[in-house]
Amino acid sequence: MVDLREVHKSFGPLEVLRGVDLQVTAGEVTVIIGPSGSGKSTLLRTVNHLEKVDSGSVSVDGGLVGYRRVGDRLHELPEREILRQRTKIGFVFQNFNLFPHLTVRQNVTEAPLAAQRRPRAEVDALAGRLLERVGLADKAGAYPRQLSGGQQQRVAIARALALEPKVILFDEPTSALDPELVGEVLDVVKDLARSGTTMIVVTHEIGFAREVADTVVFMDGGRVVERGTPAQVLDAPRHGRTRLFLSKVL
Ligand code: ATP
Ligand code: MG
Repeated sequence: MVDLREVHKSFGPLEVLRGVDLQVTAGEVTVIIGPSGSGKSTLLRTVNHLEKVDSGSVSVDGGLVGYRRVGDRLHELPEREILRQRTKIGFVFQNFNLFPHLTVRQNVTEAPLAAQRRPRAEVDALAGRLLERVGLADKAGAYPRQLSGGQQQRVAIARALALEPKVILFDEPTSALDPELVGEVLDVVKDLARSGTTMIVVTHEIGFAREVADTVVFMDGGRVVERGTPAQVLDAPRHGRTRLFLSKVL
């Protein structure tokens, strides 16, 4: 479903991704852990072409992201095509990024109406189901500022689901939350995992990774140092750097 090959990315002289390979099959939950600055967010952002790769390739659902192959050359797609591709790739940010001037329901219906041009009645019904699913049916008419952080993040998840994406990317979805609100957001993510949603989740929540991940990837210095099942990577890490990191976060 997601296939990254030899992805390299630099910001000026700083090489942030140094040849990353990552494969995520349909229905699989991959959790990425690693120290600050190791390139986790940058990697996630390459998956939907928020960052362009310098070399290597990114494919989602069998299609190259951001480019079209002509012979042996790659041509970047026009913005319109990139936006269309992004509708297949949900993204949930650390800081929710809701539209502040739209209600909860409007936040969820905006993209399916505007980007996918689906009929309003269908989209309204979908929004109702999704808000129910994340436990916020009673907040449909509220504005983001009237919600707690945990509620806002659950709206952001419903908004991502509204496009019926092939994969959802989460970048530290709970790290901006007060500790007592972390659980309600992780419960929603766990529910998605159980229902077979393909996801890549960057998080420092090791307990969540152990419970939900099919695959755990440990990144350091722009490389995948180690990957495996939660039992392999979290309980019996092979690399010293993984052990050192886990000793600090556990
Ligand atoms: P954290 O756990 O703190 O979120 P991370 O693993 O997500 O860290 P990235 O955000 O991917 O790390 O950043 C990796 C490195 O790239 C950092 O040194 C960061 O300063 C740098 N970096 C990220 N984005 C940019 C940018 N747009 N311009 C320049 N440098 C950047
Ligand atoms: Mg980050």
